[in-house]
Amino acid sequence: MHTTALVLFSGGQDSTTCLADALARFGRVETIGFDYGQRHRIELDARLRVIEALRARYPQWSDRLGEDHLLDVDILGRISDTSLTRDIAFRMEESGLPNTFVPGRNLLFLTLAAAVAYRRGLEVIVTGVCETDFSGYPDCRDDTMKAMQLALSLGMDRRFLIDTPLMWIDKAATWRMAERLGGTALVDLIVEHTHTCYQGERGPRHDWGYGCGACPACVLRARGFAGYRETAASAER
Ligand code: ZN
Repeated sequence: MHTTALVLFSGGQDSTTCLADALARFGRVETIGFDYGQRHRIELDARLRVIEALRARYPQWSDRLGEDHLLDVDILGRISDTSLTRDIAFRMEESGLPNTFVPGRNLLFLTLAAAVAYRRGLEVIVTGVCETDFSGYPDCRDDTMKAMQLALSLGMDRRFLIDTPLMWIDKAATWRMAERLGGTALVDLIVEHTHTCYQGERGPRHDWGYGCGACPACVLRARGFAGYRETAASAER
């Protein structure tokens, strides 16, 4: 039985839901985030606001929530040329991948997370990657996660478990999962405090949260929220 976990936590909807899920399941949970020269610092601010709000609203989780690790990996911004780290517009590449894809990013993050988990004695590494509402990122695939779990466990001679609670569910189900874990208060917290928009837009407030409403991340989040509300409404009827 695993009792400790390290959650890859970006301050977005998915990783916040994963964090709540980990806090419900594990006795001790720590978080890790990465500063890689994101175009928008708003993501890093959202991390702190979400942690603060979770602590205030859920004291039982606050007791289990330990240290937050923020790692500086600005090397990633220097070796990659993507619209997440440079001021260039979004588009699909000829490879079929969006230019928001930072090659090797998740592989690097998982490796660094495992190094921190090793030092902190944490057994499970939780990440919100998903193959269902798939942005086409090959480093979010289940096979990639399984390969990483094996490589990290062998390479560090420590049995790590990579846990991916969102792998096979869509965005509507992710909202439902949040409601199951923390009630509608958790849904409201995620709407209000998490950040998903690629454009770093915080201005307009939609029913699903803040964002430009047009970038692929906003569209996915909005569509998922609409689906969640639809099922919630039909359950009430
Ligand atoms: Zn957006």
